[in-house]
Amino acid sequence: MTAAIDPEAPCDLCSLPVGVRPFSLAAPEKTLIFCCEGCKGIYQMLHQIKETGDPLGNN
Ligand SMILES: [Zn+2]
Repeated sequence: MTAAIDPEAPCDLCSLPVGVRPFSLAAPEKTLIFCCEGCKGIYQMLHQIKETGDPLGNN
């Protein structure tokens, strides 16, 4: 039961296809997907999203 993410799905930041190894970010309302760690980081910064589901995150 792996979460099937369409490799053609657009990155939530830059709209490029996310590819087969997307970077996902579990936001409160939905799971966002990004083509690269940079896009994920920028989106997180812009929207002040705290990743959920990772209580051991090193902050
Ligand atoms: Zn991107």
